[in-house]
Amino acid sequence: MLERWEPVIGLEVHVQLSTRSKIFCGCSTAFGAPANSHTCPTCLGLPGALPVFNLRVAEMAAALGLALGCEVRERSVWARKNYFYADLPKGYQISQFAEPICEHGALRFFVDGDEGEEVRVAEASIVRIHMEEDAGKSVHDGGGGHSRVDLNRAGVPLLEVVSAPDLRSPEEAAGYLKALRSIVRYLGISDGNMQEGSLRCDANVSLRPRGERALGTRAEVKNLNSFRFVAKAITHEILRQAELLEEGGVVEQETRLYDSERDETRTMRSKEEAEDYRYFPDPDLPPLHLDAALLERARARLTELPVQRAERWVAEHGLSVEDARTLSNERGVAEYFEAAVQAFDGPGAVPAKWIVGEVLRELGERNASIEALGLAPDRLAELMALVEADTISSSAGKQVFAALLGNEKRPRELVAELGLEQVSDSGALEAVVAQVIRDFPDQAATYRGGKKGILAFLMGQVMKASGGKANPKLASEALRQKLEEE
Ligand SMILES: [Zn+2]
Repeated sequence: MLERWEPVIGLEVHVQLSTRSKIFCGCSTAFGAPANSHTCPTCLGLPGALPVFNLRVAEMAAALGLALGCEVRERSVWARKNYFYADLPKGYQISQFAEPICEHGALRFFVDGDEGEEVRVAEASIVRIHMEEDAGKSVHDGGGGHSRVDLNRAGVPLLEVVSAPDLRSPEEAAGYLKALRSIVRYLGISDGNMQEGSLRCDANVSLRPRGERALGTRAEVKNLNSFRFVAKAITHEILRQAELLEEGGVVEQETRLYDSERDETRTMRSKEEAEDYRYFPDPDLPPLHLDAALLERARARLTELPVQRAERWVAEHGLSVEDARTLSNERGVAEYFEAAVQAFDGPGAVPAKWIVGEVLRELGERNASIEALGLAPDRLAELMALVEADTISSSAGKQVFAALLGNEKRPRELVAELGLEQVSDSGALEAVVAQVIRDFPDQAATYRGGKKGILAFLMGQVMKASGGKANPKLASEALRQKLEEE
């Protein structure tokens, strides 16, 4: 069916900003407080209460806009978006419409390959980023058959990031969202926590016959709150529309909800256009002007972005795209990798292997951040150098790694303490080899009779006799030499 139809997907992502106070009042934005405890006349929408804009929100919006290569407007305008809902006591949401703070950018992101295919990098245009206030939350399952409203979330600052319909598959949509999450965390403007609703995604999905340029009618799937659900909901919606079109049906423009338990989307409300919201400039708020000092603070948050960083590492250090993606996802890990490369003074592939393997496994087990691990990059670099120089074996390296955590000891100290130094001294190795040959005369004879495969067994005995400390390369050379000369 999908040979004939091309999916066209655009995403609208709501990013909850990590300011301490709300966008138009001084109330706290902390998550999980008792219902309605973080409220005041302004965010409750009481008559006569006036909004006062929190400039930190504009600083964060400008930082994201600059990071995504957007034009940042020095003058933007607040609009009222009018609709009625129980969790919106004012009857309108303060948002931006005709003149948003940022427009025309682009986002690069990784896309998982199909089976057997490599991870690739793709790009989507950003149409706009605007600032707005969040609404409250209706609680329907409180018992007693009543619905209740919690307005702690009303007035929490959001950025809405709107992409062009540039995405072509559920995998691309998930990749875009992951990259955006990684960037807002890099910039320190949101925790990106999807379970707590810090990142919410609406997907616009339409199909068109392959080769066609005109867009088909779209349906919007609302409130997707995990990467997995984004991909699953879009997959479902593509199949639903394809079946409908194949049967000669028509896709309705509507808003749909994704039901993760039944893995399907269903109608929430039908066609809805901008005019339904009767947008108009908010008379309580003057247009916003960004001054040079604010733009400077926004710029100070910028850093090389995760995908760009990963692409540079692929070019500079020859990392696989997969490893580069893993290492660039969190800013702390990315900076740790770069510090380890610097301290190691060798090929970047070595720190990449250790960090992707040992360090991230350890962080996953402890569910900790890299800062909490207690292993400075220069100590890891010293350990890597000991392994690379064959001073210790790689399995001894892993023991030292475990021993390094939670203390300040140097790797060299630990190698000595644990007695892990490899025996590379040829006299000592020859003595061990000679002893093994004496202890296993039958196996030695088998080798000399031409069955070279037995060498692995004898090597195992050499390693055992040396307490695992024989340098494997030198030991196997010594063993072979000894067997062949007699
Ligand atoms: Zn308030």
